[in-house]
Amino acid sequence: MQFHVNGTLVPAEEATVNVRDRGFMYGDAAFETLRAYDGTVFEWDAHAERLDKTCEVLSLDHGISDDDLRSRIRETLTANDLRDAYVKCSITRGVQPGKLTPGPADDPTVVVIVAELPRGGTGGESVWNDPATVEVVKTRRVPSKALPAHAKTHNYLNGILARLETEADEALMLDSAGTVTEGATSNLFFVREGVLHTPSLSGPILPGITRSVVLELADEDGIPTRIGRYTPADVRDADEVFMTNTTWEVRPVGCLDDIAFEVGPITRELATAFDALVEARHY
Ligand code: PMP
Repeated sequence: MQFHVNGTLVPAEEATVNVRDRGFMYGDAAFETLRAYDGTVFEWDAHAERLDKTCEVLSLDHGISDDDLRSRIRETLTANDLRDAYVKCSITRGVQPGKLTPGPADDPTVVVIVAELPRGGTGGESVWNDPATVEVVKTRRVPSKALPAHAKTHNYLNGILARLETEADEALMLDSAGTVTEGATSNLFFVREGVLHTPSLSGPILPGITRSVVLELADEDGIPTRIGRYTPADVRDADEVFMTNTTWEVRPVGCLDDIAFEVGPITRELATAFDALVEARHY
């Protein structure tokens, strides 16, 4: 494998960053996880915009254009002869003198790594085998007043602590008031009496790109949707539950704590619509 490090393709074993890099030392970095279908990145504009917003939160003015970043992703895919892939793109504030206060990002570290994934779309294969097992965990989401949830930074300790609590596939996290937020790396949806529900972004929730695509697909299909504030009991009472993220796409939830769920018709409809969209756009 070859990865892209600071403008150069290097063998994966030689793809390293400085031990004084602020991304390593403090998690002072922004990243995006993307998915390429048949050689092009899904929803590039949305990912580029979210990355820009993360960098804005961090005041990380790295000077790399969206087009430059996209070319680096393309070059990495081509170098590895990959058309269907996981892509992770990171920008750190680089190496700076040893103090916490950041200086200008004159020499940011820019890394693109890729890994093979199965084909997506209508004739595709999901990256998961079974519906997800999910457990509500004790670790609460960091309030956005402490760390803005819409910033996708290298500091994922909140989600890591949540995952350490459970052997389930995903940890469902609550905010400090006990309201349902999201998974450690996924957004939550549930269906009750034919209505699709998802927690509002007014809570400490990453605005998932898959979440937003699924909401659009639901709208196109005339599925009634509510965005709100929910308790774990609301989710337990649901007829269907699913989680979304870039790699999983739409993943049904098979159980939440000790409650089992069937893969329901609205989950199926949205997963099919998602595949059809990917097929139409990419293959
Ligand atoms: N929430 C969190 C905390 C995440 O890390 C992710 C994965 N990026 C998501 C939600 C889902 O976002 P997306 O659909 O953009 O992958």
